[in-house]
Amino acid sequence: MPSSNSGLTIGIDLGGTKIRAAVVDRDGRVIGSHLIGTDVAGGPEKVLADILDSVRGGLGTDLSAIEAIGVGVAGQVDPASGLVRSSPNLKWESFPFGERLSTALDIPVVIDNDVQVATWGEWQHGAGRGVDDLLVIFVGTGVGGGAVTGGRLLTGRSGLAGEMGHVTIVAGGRQCTCPNQGCLEAYVGGWAIAERAVEAMLANPDAGRGLLEWAKGEEITARLVGELAATGDPLATDIMDRTGQYLGAGLVGLIHVFEPARVVFGGGVIEGSPDLVHTVESIVRANAIPAYTYDLEFVRSELGTDAGVIGSASLALERVVSRRRQL
Ligand SMILES: [Zn+2]
Repeated sequence: MPSSNSGLTIGIDLGGTKIRAAVVDRDGRVIGSHLIGTDVAGGPEKVLADILDSVRGGLGTDLSAIEAIGVGVAGQVDPASGLVRSSPNLKWESFPFGERLSTALDIPVVIDNDVQVATWGEWQHGAGRGVDDLLVIFVGTGVGGGAVTGGRLLTGRSGLAGEMGHVTIVAGGRQCTCPNQGCLEAYVGGWAIAERAVEAMLANPDAGRGLLEWAKGEEITARLVGELAATGDPLATDIMDRTGQYLGAGLVGLIHVFEPARVVFGGGVIEGSPDLVHTVESIVRANAIPAYTYDLEFVRSELGTDAGVIGSASLALERVVSRRRQL
């Protein structure tokens, strides 16, 4: 194993469509990165081989200077053993990914859930710096998040804590991708925004004409709805206004549970419609118990799509350095 104290680590964001690898320094700066597609159909062995190629060649870095590799995986993982227990996005079940990667490269590997590492990244190097109690919520196709409480990343029993998208906001409401109905994600996730927009178009074809024309024959997506809302189209504006209200309703609950000093908002839906943060802030301030909100801050993610690679690299460095201290 390398005994370097370079502070350089590699962060890997392993998702169902893309794999991004980056060399990150100890201050959370990305020195170089490499992006490839995820060959889900090729199975875990093919994805592992592609990642090895990316790390050995694509990144163009001297691996002897790398102290650790961190990987954020969309799914349920066991950080202690590096086992990916289950990843519906990757279609993996019980794959010893951390061990295989570490053996192949002779570098310590730390595996964690993708949203947990992104939360860590925002806390250590992004919009969450400087506070010990933080809530991070990512609104993209799905809705995920993480919490830092009392200066510790909240992991739960098996590293799955922080699934804020699956908090019920409407009892018996819209069917979610999980077994439940009425989850926050079933209203504000990108897929749900698109679904609600299509339903609104079908219910009122005249009002939906703007969206139909805007889509130019393409599939209706949350991004299109957000873009059209920015032009003032009434149907799209109504969909996005309600999205802000649902998100606000969810946050009112979460604020009371976690009592954070700051909430960081990230993900594609927020990037596309940044005003949602103001809507959520005003709803939370109007509806939460005042003691929870008087100095509560609402901010947008600073790391954007780098949160995953920076967070996984930074968390790997932290774990490897603390392991060394224990030896
Ligand atoms: Zn759900």
